[in-house]
Amino acid sequence: MLEIDSSKGEGGGQVVRSSVALSAITGIEAHLTRIRENRPTNGLSKQHCIAVKAVADMTDSVVIGNHAGSRDLLFKPGNGKRSDIKLDIGTAGSISLVLQAVMLAARHHKEKMRVDVSGGTNVMWAPPIDSYQQILFPLMERMGIHAKLDIIDRGFYPDGGGRVIAELEPVDEIRPLVIEDLGKLERIDGIFYIQRLKDDIMEDMLSSCKETLDLKCPVNIDVQRTVGNSKGAGLSLAAVYENGRLGSNVLTTRGHPAKQAGEDVAKDLLKEMSSGATMDVYTADQLLPYMAMANGPSEFTVSRISKHLLSQMDTLETFLDVRFGVERKGHIYNLSVVPG
Ligand code: ATP
Repeated sequence: MLEIDSSKGEGGGQVVRSSVALSAITGIEAHLTRIRENRPTNGLSKQHCIAVKAVADMTDSVVIGNHAGSRDLLFKPGNGKRSDIKLDIGTAGSISLVLQAVMLAARHHKEKMRVDVSGGTNVMWAPPIDSYQQILFPLMERMGIHAKLDIIDRGFYPDGGGRVIAELEPVDEIRPLVIEDLGKLERIDGIFYIQRLKDDIMEDMLSSCKETLDLKCPVNIDVQRTVGNSKGAGLSLAAVYENGRLGSNVLTTRGHPAKQAGEDVAKDLLKEMSSGATMDVYTADQLLPYMAMANGPSEFTVSRISKHLLSQMDTLETFLDVRFGVERKGHIYNLSVVPG
């Protein structure tokens, strides 16, 4: 059994999701302690409990201590391969983060996995669901992992009410991903979403974003106006290159007005684009588990090494035979992932 001190590094929910998913696919029992000790509210929140329960249910695993506020979890992996699950986070807890755990835990499933999940689609401190369609899934596709999703309803903090149906084809061999150079910039793709808010938000955010980007390449922004019980608006951008993609995203809030948000999301993207990195920092920690299970070494660069990235490396090394290399190259960092 592995003893995992979940307070190490980032010390948030990521180590919980990754550990239970890795426990399920490796068959190694895991005992997690000091869960979310680095967060103002310690222990598991609803979103984490739903992710843990989903992984346990789909693999017939036994889990002890999976309740809100729990700081200690025992996960005894089983051999089940349930391929159709329905989950309700019940709040605006992030659907994307629950999907992170479920998709990883389906690594050895022999049938197409279908996940119907309700909660928040666009919430702070989590990947907007759009970034999966724009960046994560296209990069996973190159590694031989075929996933897609439909956004049935959008859900924002605090009421949630979003719903997503995701499908993952059975994963065979995972190919490594090597991105030494992004190549030519082809276009900027954007998804602007707005629900139960005034149209001025759209005008303010899109005009300041486009003005700040000021690029020669095509900028295609898809506007999605939806109806639902929660309110929100935001923008998710992807710079699409010949050999890869970089992303940035923003949600507008009272403290972050639309005009400023539009400028900020554009600046964040331009910063990533000018850094010379071949992958954005958020995508890096989310793709790492798949690279660690690939049939060869992967390599890419990032503009900074986030705590999420370091913690993810640590968790992956605990469960899998994999080595990571981090080398500074001027202002960016080269990351190599060498599965054993
Ligand atoms: P906690 O509540 O403890 O922070 P959590 O489960 O909500 O736990 P983290 O453990 O912090 O969250 O993990 C957040 C994940 O979301 C990481 O994979 C991180 O890369 C990703 N993420 C956070 N913000 C963004 C963003 N703006 N865009 C894309 N990905 C993001």
